Amino acid sequence: MIRDQETLNILLDTISRFVRERLVPQEAHVAETDQIPPELVAEMKELGLFGLSIPEEFGGMGLTMEEEVLATFEIGQTSPCFRSLFATNNGIGGQGIVIDGTPEQKRDYLPRLASGEIIGSFALTEPDAGSDAGSLRTSARRDGDHYVLNGTKRYITNAPEAGIFTVMARTNPDAKGPHGISAFIVEKGTPGLSLGNIDKKMGQKGAHTCDVIFEDCRVPASNLIGGKEEVGFKTAMKVLDKGRINIAAICVGVAERMLADALRYAMERKQFGKPIAEFQLIQAMLADSKAEIYAARTMVVDAARKRDDGRDVGTEAACAKLFASEMCCRVADRAVQIFGGAGYLSEYGIERFYRDVRLFRIFEGTSQIQQLVIARNMIRAAGE
Ligand SMILES: Cc1cc2nc3c(=O)[nH]c(=O)nc-3n(C[C@H](O)[C@H](O)[C@H](O)COP(=O)(O)OP(=O)(O)OC[C@H]3O[C@@H](n4cnc5c(N)ncnc54)[C@H](O)[C@@H]3O)c2cc1C
Repeated sequence: MIRDQETLNILLDTISRFVRERLVPQEAHVAETDQIPPELVAEMKELGLFGLSIPEEFGGMGLTMEEEVLATFEIGQTSPCFRSLFATNNGIGGQGIVIDGTPEQKRDYLPRLASGEIIGSFALTEPDAGSDAGSLRTSARRDGDHYVLNGTKRYITNAPEAGIFTVMARTNPDAKGPHGISAFIVEKGTPGLSLGNIDKKMGQKGAHTCDVIFEDCRVPASNLIGGKEEVGFKTAMKVLDKGRINIAAICVGVAERMLADALRYAMERKQFGKPIAEFQLIQAMLADSKAEIYAARTMVVDAARKRDDGRDVGTEAACAKLFASEMCCRVADRAVQIFGGAGYLSEYGIERFYRDVRLFRIFEGTSQIQQLVIARNMIRAAGE
């Protein structure tokens, strides 16, 4: 749903200009240093990027899902590490509070997430609970007006920068699987909370992950999201439905960028006396990429509109994430091929995108998990 096209166009133009003029020139530097320069972070805050999908009453922009994916298409025109920094506030690190938080939790945390004063992380995955997130073992035992958390979370995006963590932990040890899991807001600096070393990753340098460790970490009971036990896994799944549409949107944006770079290169690079873009085998790679990006873009917008309509988009979100992330990696592969030897050298940047986008098929549910979600929903619907 687009509330006001003119206002949205201004926002999209502003983001597009910021991406082109400020972020794109810094891509190589950020990859080399593994750090986003603080002045760029300050500009992201000024533009309101940390609060795109946080309601206006809490200082965010309150974008609808459709508006947000259109913004994400623009943000995708550069290295995905930039988006990663503010994406958790808008997505998995903030939405648990937006969707299911108590009025006090919303009041206490959303304004600071929206301004970028604090970063929010989402801590679901554990060393022995990845795709099977419902088997998580981090425990939260009630003790007076606190819960005592013990366990380890793995690969947590923005954990080194985070001011708060949305943590899924088991409050009912007798309940198996996803039942018995509750969601908590844990503040940085809480005694018993510590971080592992920053992970060394294949790509997305500038975006950081690490372990988050809880050792008798005492969290006020008022930080139980929604004030209700044993609904934390449901909260996590609602957050992930939205997150998956956004991952699909970023895949579209980055694929468009890679294809634009590949097209430009193909028109400039000459072999056999003419631009390689004139060879039909190169054209096939360009055309297949264009068609697949168009298909993914259409899926993303459709899923976003359905979510804005209040419909259950579990299947659509999984379809969009599955197709767009696989598409993005195919486009990355073709882009490297079109660049030839230059595609393999870091100087041209395309190999960096190739490594960066590989993550999209893994996090927020692997492609295999999206397939399982889609098929399970189909079978359930057919049996109703
Ligand atoms: C850079 C990065 C950032 C991340 N950020 C976060 C974050 O912020 N918060 C968070 O909680 N997590 C985060 N994750 C974790 C991520 O969501 C998990 O890595 C992902 O869900 C897969 O879990 P796993 O790594 O344990 O793989 P596994 O679950 O061990 O899967 C290994 C392989 O087995 C396949 N597989 C598993 N089960 C099945 C099945 N039933 N049928 C068929 N195939 C199956 C998988 O698809 C995969 O191919 C991040 C991961 C990375 C790498």
